[in-house]
Amino acid sequence: MYKMYINGEWVDSISGETYDLINPATEELISQVAYGDDRDAKKAIQVAHDVFPEWSQTTAKYRADILMKIYQLMMDKKEELAKIITEEMGKPFKEALGEVQNGAEHVAWSAEEGKRTYGQMIPSPTSDKRLLTIKQPVGPVAAITPWNFPLSMVTRKLSPALAAGCTAVFKPASQTPGSAIRFFELAEEAGLPKGVINLVMGKASKIGNEFVSNPLIRKITFTGSTEIGKKLMVGAAEQVKRVSMELGGHAPFIVFDDADLDAATTAATASKFRNNGQTCVCTNRIYVQSSIQEKFVSMLKEKVEKLVIGNGLDPETTIGPLIDEGGFNKAQEHVDDALAKGATLVTGGQRHDNKTGFFYKPTVLSHATDDMLITTEETFGPVAPIYTFETEEEVIKKANDTNYGLAAYFFTKDLNRSIRMYEALDYGMVGCNDIAVGTVQGPFGGVKESGMGREGGPGSLTDFMETKFVSIGM
Ligand code: NAP
Repeated sequence: MYKMYINGEWVDSISGETYDLINPATEELISQVAYGDDRDAKKAIQVAHDVFPEWSQTTAKYRADILMKIYQLMMDKKEELAKIITEEMGKPFKEALGEVQNGAEHVAWSAEEGKRTYGQMIPSPTSDKRLLTIKQPVGPVAAITPWNFPLSMVTRKLSPALAAGCTAVFKPASQTPGSAIRFFELAEEAGLPKGVINLVMGKASKIGNEFVSNPLIRKITFTGSTEIGKKLMVGAAEQVKRVSMELGGHAPFIVFDDADLDAATTAATASKFRNNGQTCVCTNRIYVQSSIQEKFVSMLKEKVEKLVIGNGLDPETTIGPLIDEGGFNKAQEHVDDALAKGATLVTGGQRHDNKTGFFYKPTVLSHATDDMLITTEETFGPVAPIYTFETEEEVIKKANDTNYGLAAYFFTKDLNRSIRMYEALDYGMVGCNDIAVGTVQGPFGGVKESGMGREGGPGSLTDFMETKFVSIGM
């Protein structure tokens, strides 16, 4: 039985309700989970508020030492954490190990950044004054995360909050609470005082509503769909709470005719099919210059057909199941719509013949066009549509023609074009002959309807701190 963690105690929901947690590969029961609501959230928020004065007064060094212990514990339990992730959301074990590593690195990064939240001395215009700024934590933070990176999303939110001196209440996605629960256990083992972080699970709309409407919460940090992100922003506006939003994406992947096609097709395969297409920075639209279209499609097909579908715990597996039936149906709907509107099926396009689970064959479609659902909606599944273009100007226009603005990628050997491209692409992150935009050293986040704020990178604590100006008269 998975319980909530409030004020250092593992507790049932106030209602006593629970729900069943199901393995998406085997459809077997993993555990029952406490199913809370706004009352549990309220209790947790009160605790986070009550312990804030003491926690925010601790030194950055003290907080960093605890975070580094958590980092070490995560490294020691790497395999155990990865297994929980694979069982709950299906991604291949090797990818889950990568997620644990990345998640732990966010903890270490925040620990280091927390020691460098410098204020400033500002030259005064008059000799009888001294002017300065100090940085202070914003206050209790509420965090909500999705299921596709169940552990690294936790650390991307809670570790900068903790390093900055904030306390927090946290709600994981209902499909993937296990690794978050383990993280809380490790934080306790590392000596984090009780009540500093609190975990609630259950009815999302009620908990979310309490997070935005309770005046004790001073900041909301959310990763998930643009639809829910907008709702939370509207709610948060009522009390002018700070918000950080990591929302949906619709990444273009552009290949020019001078690109290294082997590197580009390998990168397109990895970017599109990692986590079975269920990442916010996954490639959604592949634009290929028309002269290399045929060659690109055949090279991509060859690589995609080598992917191995199966249970993520099987070491051979490179593609696991989709998270649930809804995810499966969306992939099929996008494929059916594209085929009906004239796309050509290159490979895949149907359910994989596994006995259980939501397994969909990695799919490539060529001759995709702008009127297809897949061109404007996030598929969040293993479907790669290929479009053609003639000129740089045309492809920039097409790539930017979306409400999303999270990640974009392009492949070319022309340096001048590279500079023009990364300047012109209207996205928060751009991969130039590269797809690794999710590294802890880089600021992760989007523009337009993909969100606001950045996680990781230099200044990753900024969103969790206020700048206070002090004017001293002498
Ligand atoms: P989602 O439906 O928005 O859910 C995300 C989280 O919000 C879950 O914890 C969910 O809880 C919760 N939630 C649902 N309704 C809520 C409400 N009314 N109030 C408060 N919280 C609520 O998104 P998803 O389908 O799980 O995740 C996929 C989306 O996340 C995609 O759009 C993807 O692009 C985006 N994403 C973005 C990033 C990024 O960094 N930009 C990273 C990863 C994913 P329940 O699980 O209990 O419903």
